[in-house]
Amino acid sequence: MISGIPASPGIVFGKALLFKEKKIKINLKKISKKNINIEIKKFFQAREKSKKQLKEIQHQAKKKFGKEKASIFDSHILILEDEELEKEIISLIKKKFITSDYAVEKIVQEQITSLEKLQDEYLKNRAIDIRDIGNRLLKNILNIPIIDLNNIQKKIILITKDLTPSQTAQMNFKKILGFITDLGGKTSHTSIMARSLEIPAIVGTGNITKKINNNDYIILNSINNEIIINPSKKQITQFKIIQEKNFKKQKKLISLKNIQAITKDGKKIKIGANIGNYADTIGSKKYGAECIGLYRTEFLFMGRNNFPSEEEQFLAYKKVAQKMNGKHIIIRTMDIGGDKNLSYMNFPKEENPFLGWRAIRVSIDKIKILHDQIKAILRASAFGKFKIMFPMIISIEEIHFLKNELQKIKKKLKKNKINFDEKIELGIMIETPSSAIISKYLAKEVDFFSIGTNDLTQYTLAVDRGNEIISDLYQPMSPAVLYLIKKVIKESHKKNKWTGICGELASNEQAISLLIGMGIDELSMSSISIPIIKNIIRKISFKKAKILAKKVLQKSTVSEIKTLLNKFNTEHHLL
Ligand code: PEP
Ligand code: MG
Repeated sequence: MISGIPASPGIVFGKALLFKEKKIKINLKKISKKNINIEIKKFFQAREKSKKQLKEIQHQAKKKFGKEKASIFDSHILILEDEELEKEIISLIKKKFITSDYAVEKIVQEQITSLEKLQDEYLKNRAIDIRDIGNRLLKNILNIPIIDLNNIQKKIILITKDLTPSQTAQMNFKKILGFITDLGGKTSHTSIMARSLEIPAIVGTGNITKKINNNDYIILNSINNEIIINPSKKQITQFKIIQEKNFKKQKKLISLKNIQAITKDGKKIKIGANIGNYADTIGSKKYGAECIGLYRTEFLFMGRNNFPSEEEQFLAYKKVAQKMNGKHIIIRTMDIGGDKNLSYMNFPKEENPFLGWRAIRVSIDKIKILHDQIKAILRASAFGKFKIMFPMIISIEEIHFLKNELQKIKKKLKKNKINFDEKIELGIMIETPSSAIISKYLAKEVDFFSIGTNDLTQYTLAVDRGNEIISDLYQPMSPAVLYLIKKVIKESHKKNKWTGICGELASNEQAISLLIGMGIDELSMSSISIPIIKNIIRKISFKKAKILAKKVLQKSTVSEIKTLLNKFNTEHHLL
């Protein structure tokens, strides 16, 4: 039995698919004259195979995303069959007596280097396509199997070293029953996505890819953090019973979805869902969300080959607005960077991406992206109750700049007689120590705060949220983080503003009494957690929770804090 970090709850059974991409190793040896034709043939066969694969991917993309999006693969096939490219590769093999893989690598690299030098964004993006196609061609020449996570045909449990959020966004979860990774943390975006998708997952196991072989039968139980490889029949039967019990428990909780989150003494807490796309609004309804406390719009930008236009964004946001039917939606501008890259955007190679070009910094530098997005949100605000939120703020200067941009866009829309909610509220995420410390000043500038405890914890404690090696140090309930949370709530209330939490701490059952006692106004979480959190809140006395919070904030260690919370939670039968 192996364990890791439970990232998304559930129990599933199935065969393992080990997703281990073999490295491309170019054959640099010179070839003899008589082998020239063999190498040329290898190139043509690999090209044919690549074409077939691309056609199949295109076919799947058409079913999933429609004709227009799938047409991008036409240009990939055109690049693959480009006559110039073919001529150059063949002539290199003939003249230099090199292998077909070496020739492909050389020519593809030359093309990429010359495209990357250009200023034109479109041509720069073409370099990314050529790298992709070149890699496919090389793998086919070298007979390296290509596993396309989007195109898996049998039901499996995915075993892999790591998964990026954009890989996760493209995966076919009708076939992938769950996943287990070597790397990753509970608050990494891949784990957050797994919870929204209700896909059981355990991350950060360290070395699962070395312990499991392809086709091993696996039990993945992320409720109790256990992975069983090739279980006995008896074990399978036992786990099927546990799985059934779990389904029933879940069903019972869902039946409570419409209860209100009101403490015993009448304090109402707003309970929201965190979503990444329209599909997640279905989960938010199923589990009884009262609003959308965080719409991570960057997911609309991922798993594709170009930026969504203003119109496309408008339609996507409008659809969410209509589904939410007047309930508020806190829509966060694109938070890209860190662990979320876009294949079509040239991200610099950074030593510390989480401290680098991320979130609002990208939007401020690439102002057209921000303008398009704000325009789309404002237009959609005519169809529902949006509140705009900016991520990763660190200064008043940023807020001044952003408010000014927002004002300019509003003016333009007005001039063009385009409808939008003129009273749309503006908020910011408090997810850096800086913003928490200056929350007194920030509260004057905006209508609300939403504390992103995932990042606030990583930046306050200097502990990477996705690094399993230091996951023990990642403590959102450390006195330092709690001190900042309390400060932010207090400063917002002093200015008659409100504060929510949309980081994972909002659904931490152990912490709820404390957060209520600290005076939090809204909690937003993965939909699946909503019923259980509502249920806990209904058993809390606000008066007693306030006394608890006072005591907790006087403690100086995590263990003292957790002991106090456990005592309170047990005494009041909260968990
Ligand atoms: C957070 O940092 O807590 C947050 C909600 O934002 P994200 O997880 O998307 O970084
Ligand atoms: Mg964040």
